Amino acid sequence: MEGDKSTTILMARDISKEESIVDASIPMRNATESTSDLESPVHSCVESILRSDGDDDDEDLIFQEVKMILRKRRGWGPEDSLSANDLDLLEYDDELVEEDDAGCPLPSTPEDTQLIEAEMTEVLKAGVLSDEIDLGALAHNAAEQAEEFVRKVWEASWIVCHYKNLPKWLQDNDFLHRGHRPPLPSFSACFKSIFRVHTETGNIWTHLLGCVAFIGVALYFLSRPSVEIQIQEKIIFGAFFAGAIICLGFSFAFHTLSCHSVEIGRLFSKLDYCGIALLIMGSFVPWLYYGFYCHYQPKVIYLSVVCVLGSLSIIVSLWDKFSEPGLRPLRAGVFMSFGLSGIIPAIHYSLMEGWFSKISQASLGWLILMGLLYILGAMLYALRVPERWFPGKFDIWFQSHQLFHILVIAAAFVHYHGISEMAMYRVTVGECTVPHEPITF
Ligand SMILES: [Zn+2]
Repeated sequence: MEGDKSTTILMARDISKEESIVDASIPMRNATESTSDLESPVHSCVESILRSDGDDDDEDLIFQEVKMILRKRRGWGPEDSLSANDLDLLEYDDELVEEDDAGCPLPSTPEDTQLIEAEMTEVLKAGVLSDEIDLGALAHNAAEQAEEFVRKVWEASWIVCHYKNLPKWLQDNDFLHRGHRPPLPSFSACFKSIFRVHTETGNIWTHLLGCVAFIGVALYFLSRPSVEIQIQEKIIFGAFFAGAIICLGFSFAFHTLSCHSVEIGRLFSKLDYCGIALLIMGSFVPWLYYGFYCHYQPKVIYLSVVCVLGSLSIIVSLWDKFSEPGLRPLRAGVFMSFGLSGIIPAIHYSLMEGWFSKISQASLGWLILMGLLYILGAMLYALRVPERWFPGKFDIWFQSHQLFHILVIAAAFVHYHGISEMAMYRVTVGECTVPHEPITF
């Protein structure tokens, strides 16, 4: 009983201290927010865990330390959260808080304070039980332990935020207003965010499921006995499968980890773009292989051109500025021109086989459908439709990027169907009647 009383007195003292610190060190935060900060579940959890062990002086010290960090972490501080134009507008800050409140209630977001508290208590309990949080050591090495401790609490308790509250490096699409993930500087927190609802949930799941589906198809195809599908067929289709799986896998990884930090976000966005280039290259390989099956020279030339264009796209993708929001049309343009360069071999092929031959219609029909799906996807991506027309209405579902993701998967499956038909045609027609043409220049 006595212990509890002294803790209450300690708490009361801390609160008065904290108020003065808040006023002095964070002038941007308004009074309401400072108060709610003190009453936050994070605060009470810290309080309860510290109450359970150690003597009062140590507790006081650790408690101060933890609170300082919590206050720093909560809301990211005005200097990180707001764009430069907003920094000096105090009234604007009030409006921001209001918008924030409106932006948070999402189905799976533990906005409810009891939920947050329960979640954090779990983390704390697990930490103490697994010796990750050592209360004895906490007393001796307060700053380090408190930082670690707060990190765990933070990871379990983040809530989605408004676009304007994101740090500059996470501000990508201003037509999506609410439901953004805050920066989560830990891989495990990023991966756990897959199971929460926010602006990236749809992007993550579309390409995660697409990737898994292509892995399944590839395993089925490649494990067929060689009497059914020959080894060279497997290699040629393997290039397409590799492109699709790498593209969808990198895209999934990028959307999961984009909020980790500036460096990780940038690295994975580069891998994401490289994946698109690899998918386009991998898609050309079987098409050119079967399309020019008995025409060795154009086949080699077109494949070489595809390798050169693919490498150029990868080099552009590795450029730091390429992922900037302003260069969205350039990105769409680069990959669209690379994909549309396929028009040249397609025309060549049609002239060779005859425009209205059965085989031309079969293989070109699917190719054209694939092209249309990719073009539609790239247009939605570049123009940010439909959220451009209804800002804030497609924050979570059916935003342009998700539609683009779905169209990419659809186009990849259409292409798989198209090249399968071309391969089947080759099987029924049999080998080339004349030996492969020698390369002549
Ligand atoms: Zn994407």
